[in-house]
Amino acid sequence: MQAKLISPEIIKHCFAKTYALAQQNFKTSVERLNTADYQTFSFDQLGPENETLATAVSWIGRADASRVLVLQSATHGIEGFAGSAIQLDFLKHQLHKLTDTDVSVLLIHAINPYGFAWLRRVNEDGVDLNRNFIDFTQALPKNTIYTELANKLLPAHEQDLESSWADLLTWRDNNGQGLFEEGITRGQYDYPDGLFYGGQAASQSRKNLEKIISDFDLAGRDYVAVIDIHTGLGPFSYGELICDHAPNSSAVAWARNVYGQSVTEPALGTSSSAPKDGLLDYCWHQALNDRICFVTLEFGTYSIEKMFAALRADHLLHRQTFDWNDSHVQAIKQTLKQFFYPATADWQELVLLRGRQVIAQAIQGLCEQSA
Ligand SMILES: [Zn+2]
Repeated sequence: MQAKLISPEIIKHCFAKTYALAQQNFKTSVERLNTADYQTFSFDQLGPENETLATAVSWIGRADASRVLVLQSATHGIEGFAGSAIQLDFLKHQLHKLTDTDVSVLLIHAINPYGFAWLRRVNEDGVDLNRNFIDFTQALPKNTIYTELANKLLPAHEQDLESSWADLLTWRDNNGQGLFEEGITRGQYDYPDGLFYGGQAASQSRKNLEKIISDFDLAGRDYVAVIDIHTGLGPFSYGELICDHAPNSSAVAWARNVYGQSVTEPALGTSSSAPKDGLLDYCWHQALNDRICFVTLEFGTYSIEKMFAALRADHLLHRQTFDWNDSHVQAIKQTLKQFFYPATADWQELVLLRGRQVIAQAIQGLCEQSA
């Protein structure tokens, strides 16, 4: 289907083919503004083509703004193509939305650059950043369903993926789709090479994010709205706003008031996302208490069964060393990329349109927020 509401040139320019191109495009777009502040948090690891990896951060607007909108991309590495595109579109085509407001915008580009570059959801240590924000001085959560299914999810040999999937479906039919999805995706802290692994310590990306919150004195603002952009859950191309604040909290009320009745809550079972441990949201909740509204903007792609298949193949691949250019490796990586980043103009156009809508709502909500 041809894109119609946003020009094909804009779509092509905003959606990069690789992490390195996205990063370069982001840097160039910020530098063109002159007025924007730009800095990077570099990583020791390199990308598959030996490219350097960094999280880039840009502040747009007055340094002392009382209200701040934060747009973040690539919490789940490979999901960064959509988030980066929305950030670029904002930089190039949507800055007028800030005119005559007391709102500044903080762009956090590629908080997990390793996963973005290597086409993985997880980071350089196999950690799902969105399960990593727990208190590691306390006993780690136990996920008994994951433990029960671990050997089926990731069998010893690749040729067993299909037969073990049949076993998993039998488990699902006996226990229900809801428990199946929640058990697998909730997060686990016992299988470092497994799916949705939360780690054993704060990741580098978590430390970077905590430093960003501190450096920009975000806890000192009157109100902060965060939009963390993801892909892979829900109906194809629909951008679901997921709110993981406590049910009935003032943040949920703020989200409904600003973003409308489509806001969903995993805790109430109204979201395509099941409840989870260790969400990145929690460090923001902690830093700002009732002066923050954090939402995940999740763009649907294909079925969750397809997602599990793509992730299982990728995790088996990363159990060993491999040649990035090997055709079998590339087939696994491209399947994953296609799942989290459908290369169709209609999907990409709807991502940008929904991104513009949600950003406009957030800025308006911040403007109307009384100090
Ligand atoms: Zn995600």
